[in-house]
This record gives sequence, structure tokens and C-alpha cells, in this order.
Amino acid sequence: MAKGKVSCNECGSGATVRRGAYRFDASGLDNVVLKGIELIECPACGNVDPVIPKMTELFRVLAMAMIAKPQSLTGKEVRYLRKYAGMSAEQFARMLHTDKTTISKWENDAVKIGSKTDLLIRAIAVQIGPGLKSEAERLIRNFETITERDKKQPSRLEVDSETLKCMYA
Ligand SMILES: [Zn+2]
Repeated sequence: MAKGKVSCNECGSGATVRRGAYRFDASGLDNVVLKGIELIECPACGNVDPVIPKMTELFRVLAMAMIAKPQSLTGKEVRYLRKYAGMSAEQFARMLHTDKTTISKWENDAVKIGSKTDLLIRAIAVQIGPGLKSEAERLIRNFETITERDKKQPSRLEVDSETLKCMYA
């Protein structure tokens, strides 16, 4: 993107572009950081917009990172994987032989997800989520290494904007 030619999406003022880290809250997750992403910064209103060139691929690699996550899933990650699989809470509840209220409690971290349910959610996402099936065997064989999440353990997911390589840090 050419410098000095961009304008702010919010107020239309001239904005600048730089590369930096950006917390990708639009993913519905609060632990995803895009590293080295182009940021359009507006000195007039303070708005910052990331330039995300490969959005579909980004959502796919995030799903894959969660399915391979070495510790149990958070509620937000469960919600992400359910949505990535294109399922409503009702459909997901029926598939997992539970009810919508329980799904909501899982997704809001109000109720702990059992470790077997955690793995089942990953297995559903890898089979039903777009573009993941070819990774299914590798990811499912990896299940035996997944451990319970230690609350003190940071689970920030860093994504390199160029390569889309994901790493828990
Ligand atoms: Zn602005």
C-alpha cells in the first residue's frame, strides 16, 4: 500500500500506514495477535484499522491452531470452532447430545468443558470446518498430547502476517 495515499475509514482524514502488532478482536477471540500486519492509523481521530489480505485463510489457520492447541479450549475458542463449522448453538447442542444452555455456559466459561467433549468439539470442527479435512488425521493423532489448561498459563496466539504461521506464546 502506498504511503500517504490512504484515508481513515472512520473520519476520512489522511492516515498513515505502518507495520505492527494488532489484537484481532474481530475474530471473537481475545488472545489472537497478528504480528507484522499493516495498520492504517489516523492521527485525527485515533482510529486503527488492520489491512488483512488473506482473511479466509487467516480464519482457517486460526481454526487449525485451536484444534492443535496443546491445552484445553477456552469458551471463546469453542464458540469460534462452532461458528467455523457453520453451526448454530441449537445444531451444535443436538450433535453433542446436550442443550443450548449448556453450549452457552461452555462458551462463556461458566461451566467447565469435560476433556472428552473438548476433543469431540475439535474432531467435529476438523471434519466439518471448511478446508481442514486434509489435516484431520494429523490433528486427531495429536489429541493424545493435549493436556488440561493451567489458568496461569498464557495462551496468546501469535500469527505471523506474512506466513500465517501460528504460535501459542
Ligand atoms: Zn480518522
